[in-house]
Amino acid sequence: MLNEVFEAVKRFGAIGVGVTPVVPMGDEVFSEFEGWLANGENAGMNYLENYPEIRRNPELLLPGAKSMICAAFPYPAESERDPDLPMISVYAMGEDYHTVLRKRLTSAAEEISGLIESERGVRPEWRVCVDTAPLAERYWAVKSGMCERGLNGMAILPGYGSCFFLGEILITYPLSEINMPENGKKRGDSEVFGCGECRACVRACPTGALQGNGLIDCRRCLSYLTIEHRGAWTTPEALAAMATEAGRNTLYGCDRCVRVCPHNRGTQRESEGMKEFEADPRMLTLTAEQAEEISDETFRELAKGKAIKRAKAAGLRRNGANCMKNRN
Ligand code: SF4
Ligand code: SF4
Repeated sequence: MLNEVFEAVKRFGAIGVGVTPVVPMGDEVFSEFEGWLANGENAGMNYLENYPEIRRNPELLLPGAKSMICAAFPYPAESERDPDLPMISVYAMGEDYHTVLRKRLTSAAEEISGLIESERGVRPEWRVCVDTAPLAERYWAVKSGMCERGLNGMAILPGYGSCFFLGEILITYPLSEINMPENGKKRGDSEVFGCGECRACVRACPTGALQGNGLIDCRRCLSYLTIEHRGAWTTPEALAAMATEAGRNTLYGCDRCVRVCPHNRGTQRESEGMKEFEADPRMLTLTAEQAEEISDETFRELAKGKAIKRAKAAGLRRNGANCMKNRN
């Protein structure tokens, strides 16, 4: 049964699939998350403080949920964007992953539900989650046995790397007992790193946002500051980060800690990424000057259906203006 479930999800484009029972998150990991919030490292992402009881116990997202299917969908690890132009994260140059994954996971869930009904005589309920529900996706990807944890805060799929989006199917049917804590594994807890002695990402982070514990201090992270942060940068940490050479060379998101990761180089890559996530040619040539001057209307047209819409036109203009300081 489990293999058929895995195959169903892979038919819809996943390069990795894992299954975990739906149980509350482990104390150790939840305390780590709470400590991260208490330190203020979530910066302006106050929504991460909401619904702690749901975040801790995913059964509250779907009453009666017994299993969570975690899936990884690949985006290209590299783009053809001119390296002399300021950085735009590779993942953001194609279609919005929320829409793409939701569609594919919904089709997979319908197929899995039908499969269970035909083999076991019950039709389970299910719910698809893609980034928007209060769900610790990377934790569950590790707990499902699919991924390892990276010191750069990413989930790592062994043999593939970390260039993928995560999505989940919660389902009211017990698919597996694998990876239960009583089986001797503590998957998802802090010791489950796939890094060995490597600290390349910690060294490569230009702003000190990575402290070597697997957590990101978003107050200093160029990804957060150029995507999620609204308005002018005002805190000392943000101003210092955006004034670095890397900060003045970042238009949207930052791939620096991902690019140096050995898991993303020379791997047994099965796929170069799904076609929906290939870059829109206009994103490959967008300059700092164009970003600084982009009108609301042009931004709407450029960002339609893409993850980059998250920054909004004002955010992209702000980022462009910051990059122009390097050129003036
Ligand atoms: S995204 Fe950039 S700034 Fe953020 S942790 Fe990675 S290297 Fe550092
Ligand atoms: S760069 Fe090295 S330390 Fe960082 S996530 Fe990759 S393997 Fe781990």
